[in-house]
Amino acid sequence: MFLENITLQRVLPCTANKNKIKILASLSTNVAELMPYINGTISSAVYNREAGWITFRMGEKIVTLYDRKVAVTKLLNEMDAYETLDIIKNTINEIEAGKDRITPSTETKKMPTPLDIYKMLPKKNCRECGEMSCLSFAGKVLTGQTKLEKCKILDEPIYEKEKRKLEDIFEMFGLKD
Ligand code: SF4
Repeated sequence: MFLENITLQRVLPCTANKNKIKILASLSTNVAELMPYINGTISSAVYNREAGWITFRMGEKIVTLYDRKVAVTKLLNEMDAYETLDIIKNTINEIEAGKDRITPSTETKKMPTPLDIYKMLPKKNCRECGEMSCLSFAGKVLTGQTKLEKCKILDEPIYEKEKRKLEDIFEMFGLKD
């Protein structure tokens, strides 16, 4: 078997959702060489070859693989963590076993632009976040000069879908701590 074990190392509160947890785990095998194949298989994957990580969505969860580590966010509890790590292990082994049929990809998805972020904001230009407009907020949140949480309008139930999307984008592109 390519990847024998994934060992849970740390359990932390999830930054994106305080009712959930995030975990760090170690991999028994270095998966760096498999990353282009994962990128070629999983459509949601964002691969950063230079930095040596690939991140992808697994349902609600965001999985980030490094050479010998994996981080997973938005887990319900430790039981969910163990089940998810098992799924990740099986997915990695399946991709490795089917490598001959996969076209590897080193393509890195484009970072979102302020306009991409703006499209998901409430567009009220109410200035409650301390910025002059939603577009200005979008630019600043992308460069880390402000935080997504500052837009309280996004907490309204009507924007739940957009807020979740924005949190995922920030997490997947490593724009969130
Ligand atoms: S609080 Fe939200 S809706 Fe209001 S200006 Fe800032 S980003 Fe736009």
